[in-house]
Amino acid sequence: MTTFPEKGMSEEEVLNELEKRLSEDLTFDSGKILGSMCTYPHPLAQKIISLYIDRNLGDPGLHVGSRKIEEETVQMLGNLLHLNKAYGNIVSGGTEANILAVRAFRNIADVENPELILPESAHFSFLKASEMLKVKLVWAELNDDYSVNVRDVENKITDNTIGIVGIAGTTGLGVVDDIPALSDLAQDYGLPLHVDAAFGGFVIPFAKALGYDLPDFDFKLKGVQSITIDPHKMGMAPIPAGGIIFRKKKFIDAISVPAPYLAGGQIFQATITGTRPGANALAVWTLLKHLGFEGYKKIVKEAMELSRWFAGQIKTLNGAYLIREPMLNIVSFGTKELEKVEKELKMRGWGISAHRGYIRIVMMPHVKKIHLEEFLRDLKEILKV
Ligand code: PLP
Repeated sequence: MTTFPEKGMSEEEVLNELEKRLSEDLTFDSGKILGSMCTYPHPLAQKIISLYIDRNLGDPGLHVGSRKIEEETVQMLGNLLHLNKAYGNIVSGGTEANILAVRAFRNIADVENPELILPESAHFSFLKASEMLKVKLVWAELNDDYSVNVRDVENKITDNTIGIVGIAGTTGLGVVDDIPALSDLAQDYGLPLHVDAAFGGFVIPFAKALGYDLPDFDFKLKGVQSITIDPHKMGMAPIPAGGIIFRKKKFIDAISVPAPYLAGGQIFQATITGTRPGANALAVWTLLKHLGFEGYKKIVKEAMELSRWFAGQIKTLNGAYLIREPMLNIVSFGTKELEKVEKELKMRGWGISAHRGYIRIVMMPHVKKIHLEEFLRDLKEILKV
């Protein structure tokens, strides 16, 4: 049994023990983590965290400057997503952002048996939203290319529908749904469209600027009412840092509750978490200012090129096949005896996982060509036996 320590250990002792215990963890700088949407945070962001670790955005009357910086960060993200005036928050991640969007849609719709239509490829955070908010999920089928079938979405609209979800960068394959068509549909039926760009939000704008042919996915499209965009994925910000951006104030108003007892006076809170890290929002602001559009474009360029190269390599392998051509910097492949291959790769220290019948490789900024070459050597050996 682990007991509560009677006496404290010295700093040195406890740090040593911790280091020993964490030797089991995979680290991003090892190059072995190929199946995560997180990465080693940018060094400047780490500095910001240690400088401003005490800031609490749950009580913005105390930390007025931090609140203004969060607001500015939301505006900058809104601007990246073609919105003049944005409403939202830097939150704990894509899960919270998606839950907030569903909550806003449900509260505004005010129907007795609310239903949300979403692609079969949607992230499991919507399962949590469904359970907590008592919103029924209505799954729309996928096309052969794994994008959502827009006709099926339309067929599933009823009087109970509170909104539609489209995905800009699916978790498994990095597919960008036909958001323009979903936006038209949403407008035709007077429904709000939420775009889950938790991953793609920090990829697509830069990839498009680099000439990659990707659909529009943001507030340029009139039906899009909210977007999840996570700085702690391709934004290189430290965990936790998600983003929820709304087109209109009414969505934030619909999920805001009064928070009366705070030291800084009464405010309204829309986030699920109360006390929440200011330092992470400050880190996001700092990175947007420091890297700028050009800086992120460079990061995305490398990641996109690497994913095309890797996809080409997979095609040359005997016993492995691409699930589909990559749209973003995610490449997923299947193999014969997938479970066995997964187990073998894990035994060789690779941080990957197989689900839905394939192995997903995410070309995050810490993933370099030499890591992928080493991975391919292992994969070839495993496939041979
Ligand atoms: N949405 C998408 C498309 C995702 O890929 C993920 C995570 O992988 C999430 C939402 C949830 O994000 P988080 O893990 O930050 O809560």
